Amino acid sequence: MLNAFSVDVEDYFQVGAFERAIPRDTWGGFQPRVERNTQRLLALCEKHQVRGTFFVLGWVAERWPEMVRAIRDAGHELGTHGQDHRRVTTLNPREFREDVRRSKRTIEDVAGVEVIGYRAPNYSIVRETLWAVDVLSEEGFQYDSSIFPIRHDHYGIPDFPRFPQPVKTGNGSALQEFPISTLRFAGMNLPFVGGGYLRQFPMQFIRWGMRHLNQRERRPAIVYIHPWELDPEQPVQPVGVLTRLRHYRNLDRTEDRLATLFSEYAFTSCREILGL
Ligand SMILES: [Zn+2]
Repeated sequence: MLNAFSVDVEDYFQVGAFERAIPRDTWGGFQPRVERNTQRLLALCEKHQVRGTFFVLGWVAERWPEMVRAIRDAGHELGTHGQDHRRVTTLNPREFREDVRRSKRTIEDVAGVEVIGYRAPNYSIVRETLWAVDVLSEEGFQYDSSIFPIRHDHYGIPDFPRFPQPVKTGNGSALQEFPISTLRFAGMNLPFVGGGYLRQFPMQFIRWGMRHLNQRERRPAIVYIHPWELDPEQPVQPVGVLTRLRHYRNLDRTEDRLATLFSEYAFTSCREILGL
């Protein structure tokens, strides 16, 4: 059973949870670490013969085109994570269209490959922003991987289907949606195998979840991670207690945990899993 491995390529100061503390116009003043952290991920993938999808911010691709080409050259799929990490919930359809068009074009220009996949910042395709699916289809995307079918304080459509399926768009075409993996438990969907969940949940539970999805439900999982999650030395930002816990806890364990998953399960890009 093949699973999807995905990376949201952004730097440590660009995460959604920091957006009040760190305004966009100050990003240029931070010491960048995205390139070396992405190289660590590429090396880990290489070691375990894993291919995946790297959803790159347009802002990052404009500044590190060589890194984008290195991702391509290593055999991974390139997708976009939007231009400068604006949540879809803060944009109107016209602004969203500009955001995805610009980031798609930037990545295509620097890498010379077509970008067909999108991952929204902070899983911000929610019930109120489902119009985004129409825009993505009109802009030439073939799939989206932005819907988290859970109940959460910042994102999620709790009753959205849990596995890849076409979503009918207003213009009559069908975009594939690859929802973020969950486990069905006691009438609820629980996240378990990406980002902070991968860092903080017991590894026994994560492995049980992977087995359950692959062997019992016979479905692929999708794992997601950020380059900054492999970087315990990143400068600590002045944020609240809950954000601090979510962002910084177990950064020193991410690489080992990914290596464990990589050695026990098979991974490839979203594009390949969806047959696109
Ligand atoms: Zn992000």
